[in-house]
Amino acid sequence: MELLIFWDAGAPAGMQASFCREIASLLPAKPRVCENPLVLTGFRHSRDQTDASTLLDSLELFKKRAGLSVPVLLVVSVDIFREGDEYLFGLARFQSGTAVVSTTRLENEHYGLPPDDHELLDRLVKTAVHEIGHLLSLPHCRDPACIMYNPLTLDDLTRQKRWFCPRCREQIGSRE
Ligand SMILES: [Zn+2]
Ligand SMILES: [Zn+2]
Repeated sequence: MELLIFWDAGAPAGMQASFCREIASLLPAKPRVCENPLVLTGFRHSRDQTDASTLLDSLELFKKRAGLSVPVLLVVSVDIFREGDEYLFGLARFQSGTAVVSTTRLENEHYGLPPDDHELLDRLVKTAVHEIGHLLSLPHCRDPACIMYNPLTLDDLTRQKRWFCPRCREQIGSRE
C-alpha cells in the first residue's frame, strides 16, 4: 500500500529517510514523507497534552477535503493522550486510514537520560509499524515480542522486536 507520512515541524529532524527505509523493509508499504500541512489541534491545558482523537479528526477532515485516499500517518513531538489513557505512543483509525505517533515518550530525555538518536529511531519505527499494522486491520497480539503487542510502557516497547509473529505475519500476507 502507499503510505503518506506527515512529518510535523516539531518532530525530530534528519531521520525521515531512514524512517521510510525501515518502514518499507518491515511492511508491504511505499512510504512518502512530506511536511505536515495541518495545524495541530486538541491541546488540553489542564493536562499539558494533546488529544490524539482530536488530531485524528483533523487529519480525517484534511484527507476528505484534499480527496486523499491513501492512508496517512502523522508524526508529532507533542505528548498525546486519549480519554481513559494517561498517555499514548500512537493511535490509529482503520476506518479512515489515519494514524498518529508521538515522539515525546520515545525520547531518552523524557526519562532524564542522555539523547540517543539511534534508540529514538528504533522506537519510532516500532511505534509507527504497530499503528500501520492497525491500518492494515491487524488487532493487538498477545506475544510480548510481536510488534502488534500493545505496549503500555517504554519497557514493553523495548521488549518488542521489529518483528511480526507468524500469526500476524500471515494476516499481513493475506492483505497484500
Ligand atoms: Zn495498538
Ligand atoms: Zn503477533
